[in-house]
Amino acid sequence: MIKNTFNILKTGLKLLIRKPITFKFPPETPVSKKFRGRHLFHLEKCISCGTCFRICPNGALEMVERQKDGKTVYFPSINYSKCCFCGFCSDACPEKALDMTNFSIIISTNKKDLIFTPEQLAQQPELEHPEKPKRKSIVSWARSRSLWVTNFFTGCCFVEAIPWFGSGFDMERFGMIAKGSPLHSDVLFIGGYVTYKTIKRIIGIYNKMPQPKFVLTLGNCPMTGGVYWDSFNTIKRIDDYIPVDIWIAGCPTRPEAIGVAAYHAILAIEGGYLPKKEEVRMKKKIQYRNTDDLKAEPIIKKVGNDERIFSFGPQHPASGNFSIRLTVKGEKINNAEFVAGYLHRGLEKLCEYRTWYQNTMLISRACVLDGASYEIGYINAVEKLLEIEIPERAKYLRVIQAELSRIQSHLLNLGFVAYSSGFDSIERIIWGDREKILFLLDALCGSRIYQLYNIPGGVQSDISDEFIENVTDTISYIRTRLKTIDDLFMKNPIFRKRSISIGKISHDIAIESDITGPNIRASGVKFDIRKATPYAAYDKLHFDVPTFDHGDIYHRVLVRRQEIESSLNLVEESMKKLPDGPYKMKFKPMDKVPKGEAISFVESARGELCFHIVSDGGRNPYRIKVRGPTFDSILFFLPKLLKGCFLADVPLIYWSLDNCPADHDR
Ligand code: SF4
Ligand code: SF4
Repeated sequence: MIKNTFNILKTGLKLLIRKPITFKFPPETPVSKKFRGRHLFHLEKCISCGTCFRICPNGALEMVERQKDGKTVYFPSINYSKCCFCGFCSDACPEKALDMTNFSIIISTNKKDLIFTPEQLAQQPELEHPEKPKRKSIVSWARSRSLWVTNFFTGCCFVEAIPWFGSGFDMERFGMIAKGSPLHSDVLFIGGYVTYKTIKRIIGIYNKMPQPKFVLTLGNCPMTGGVYWDSFNTIKRIDDYIPVDIWIAGCPTRPEAIGVAAYHAILAIEGGYLPKKEEVRMKKKIQYRNTDDLKAEPIIKKVGNDERIFSFGPQHPASGNFSIRLTVKGEKINNAEFVAGYLHRGLEKLCEYRTWYQNTMLISRACVLDGASYEIGYINAVEKLLEIEIPERAKYLRVIQAELSRIQSHLLNLGFVAYSSGFDSIERIIWGDREKILFLLDALCGSRIYQLYNIPGGVQSDISDEFIENVTDTISYIRTRLKTIDDLFMKNPIFRKRSISIGKISHDIAIESDITGPNIRASGVKFDIRKATPYAAYDKLHFDVPTFDHGDIYHRVLVRRQEIESSLNLVEESMKKLPDGPYKMKFKPMDKVPKGEAISFVESARGELCFHIVSDGGRNPYRIKVRGPTFDSILFFLPKLLKGCFLADVPLIYWSLDNCPADHDR
């Protein structure tokens, strides 16, 4: 105990005196050379073949008429409220006329401005530094310097808003506080895709906010449906329901783009800008939809004399876009039911309308927290149908990607657990460190979150010497930081008291309930797909599967903490053993896949993930069924685990299971 307290004090002091890691702002963005950002179009090279237009999975690209040397030609124009930055157009262009730059910031107050003409695309992108306006009044100045934020993180983009709250980006230095309470907030961040079920909750929050209320949306989904433009359940234009002041394009948006948008908003508010709704009402141009029929059920309901029913989520800061209906008496939970479906997009059905190749873009979006596993699982199944054995080098590169993704996912979860138990500083430290891993993924694949690294027949690109150097440095950095996390958090007597022997899942119940991944390994079952049915290069690598017998919150967290270490070793070993040779075979984006059925399994950060794919011999899959790690186990087991617990334990139990609503709702 005394030793632990001493260690906590020592580590705290070390953190206090070290150099802060805050990024400069306006941004000095940590963007890699490979990052797929805004396009740069070379007018002189384009032969108007239209390949880019045909391959775009989102209808973001259009061919527009122009005159060149007295002839009519067609050049691409891109709508950035639809583009997911997959890079398919750039890769497929036979003349290399469409490059992707590493410029990541595209924001606008008007959606129409996001349609870039060929001439605009031909300009090198540059960051606009807004002029500081003349302050309108002392009220506008005070308002601009104390924006309180509430958020509704509806989908993928939330994962890129997280760094904005964490260490490094530090939103507080702009006077912004993540309040999370609609009654006290004047800024609403809507992060990601919006379904018909979610919009009711968003309107509920918006209506509760005091005037003036500013709305910023993250990503393309709220603007146009984004990559889910053809889903039956996606709201395609959120501005039909509530007014939006700033649109931040991206899929997902990067944290620095959120920062630039917030910075623009601050300056505009200082200069007297008031939210759109008030202006629109004055001009009477747009009538917002009558929202009476869109009322969500009440958050708290009284039942009987002393019981209350209330919803934990979907907008609770600790819930994700998912809800648990709790029946409580005092502080004790008498009953719990899950309410899922806030993120349902019909993802498996949408895959049937895209080519095998285009689906790599969509399938990783099934789980924003660990998209790499979904990519690898899907591609493994496609390769089984194609009956191909990929080059050895590609197998090791897939392990590197999968393990880096596992590390960032576990770090994210550790941050959530810390946050749910009141350790806000630990959460910020951990999320700040997670950025280092995201940078590696960005450098490996060109994107931090949805990497699109795997293609049928191998991987998109090879690694560079610079990447190897960065990985070596990052591995040793994260290893030292794990010791800090141990000292400040894992050994902390308060966290131990709140997590040991709470939320227990026994060995037998874990097996009966079909739980997999770190959750089952914390209950004494040594089961890991990487060992049971190895894929990629796992059969040639040495690693242990951390397992504990206790099955409580603490040991679920501990398994993930140990797995971070094991994944660091796996990345290191893969780099050492990386064989020479090619990293991909030839597969054209529009190629057909032979008729047949295939099943593949992978060990994702949350557990066993299975793909069952049927091909009728065409360019698109006939049917795709995904069995994710969260639907059958976490979702169904969670209510049983919560019954009889105290209210304060709910977020902690929930995050110790590491649920992903995007995965179970699909
Ligand atoms: S990057 Fe992808 S989504 Fe964007 S225009 Fe090109 S193909 Fe379409
Ligand atoms: S940009 Fe490339 S793919 Fe698109 S029309 Fe021009 S040459 Fe063809």
